[in-house]
Amino acid sequence: MSIFKNTLMKEFKMKENSVLATIYENICRDTGKQNESAKLIAVVRLLTLSMLAHSLVCCVLVSITGHTGALVFSVASPILFLAVFVLSYQWSTFVSYCILNVCILFWSCMNVYCFGWNIGIQHFLVVLLVFVFFCKYRHELIKILFASGLFLLRLYLYYYCRSHEPVIPLDSGLSNALQTLNTFFVFLSLGLIAYLFSSSTQEMEGKLIEYNRKLMKQANTDTLTGLFNRRRTMEYLENLLKSADTQISICLCDIDHFKRVNDTYGHDVGDVVLKKISETFHKRLPPDTFVSRWGGEEFLLIFPRLNGDEAITALETLRQKIRELVFDGGFENFTISLTYGLVEYDYHSDITTLLKEADEKLYVGKENGRDRIVF
Ligand code: GH3
Ligand code: MG
Ligand code: MG
Repeated sequence: MSIFKNTLMKEFKMKENSVLATIYENICRDTGKQNESAKLIAVVRLLTLSMLAHSLVCCVLVSITGHTGALVFSVASPILFLAVFVLSYQWSTFVSYCILNVCILFWSCMNVYCFGWNIGIQHFLVVLLVFVFFCKYRHELIKILFASGLFLLRLYLYYYCRSHEPVIPLDSGLSNALQTLNTFFVFLSLGLIAYLFSSSTQEMEGKLIEYNRKLMKQANTDTLTGLFNRRRTMEYLENLLKSADTQISICLCDIDHFKRVNDTYGHDVGDVVLKKISETFHKRLPPDTFVSRWGGEEFLLIFPRLNGDEAITALETLRQKIRELVFDGGFENFTISLTYGLVEYDYHSDITTLLKEADEKLYVGKENGRDRIVF
């Protein structure tokens, strides 16, 4: 069963084997050709059925009033739409779609010609106008030409009716009944087309938004740790420094002797360390800290509201918590440490200068025995 059918069944809360579900199953049945829109053929068939129902009610109304001329004409309509419905299972979607358009067009003109303007059959031209714009097969130019043609046809029919009497004049009772019937079916057809096409458009839009969100996340984060990546960090820093109205501190930190961890316990254990440290950053630092993986085993921490002294306090807590972490190296447990190079934003340095300064401080920390904060 196609996704479209599934969605319809869900929307209408149909049970799998209920009568309604079986009817839907048949209406949506694919034409056998691949890459054809199941939705379009379903709309074509539902619209044909709606036209068929309309013509049948028309027949009943006309026969009740005993209008022989109108009855002969009315009987032809259900036969026409029944034939289109049955043959839609033989034709391709596109052919069915075109034939239905032609039939409604011809049928509307004949009705106006026979019964005049007052029964409101000309409103079915608006149904065609909406229908043509939802079809993916037609080129934009063809759609515009078709819409212009419908507009001209409607005007022509109006002026034709003003100067000609209907071939089959109806009394006002039947005319009013047909006007009501036509208005109902025009609204039904428009509602049907709009509902079926808009429901899947909304679904597609939702999927697209979700897909874009995932893409954005992928473009901004590091896959191993889930931290922001360098690209996103630069973007964030540029914006932050541009509108800086509070004190900002930036810290570049690096795992000590991480190569040794990899060499001794293996790369996988090294990855576990990177993940665990990333989690610890989130747990132990102030919530508005921007945490990113700057490269291999280097991290950039941005404190958007802390001055240097406040950042040292936060980092000192973090440093101790990281020192307390115990990792399983397989044959033994081990601990790790980080060295931190901290700078405070002076409201005029550029990003490169700030990062260079933080890197120099980190280097000083490494030179002086590691596992320390240099400010
Ligand atoms: P120092 O204290 O001076 O920083 O020494 P170090 O060993 O940490 O520094 P070095 O630059 O010599 O080694 C960094 C190591 O980090 C080497 C590299 O294999 C490892 N590394 C980088 N990215 C990853 C990763 O994604 N996973 C793992 N497991 N290791 C990584
Ligand atoms: Mg290192
Ligand atoms: Mg390094």
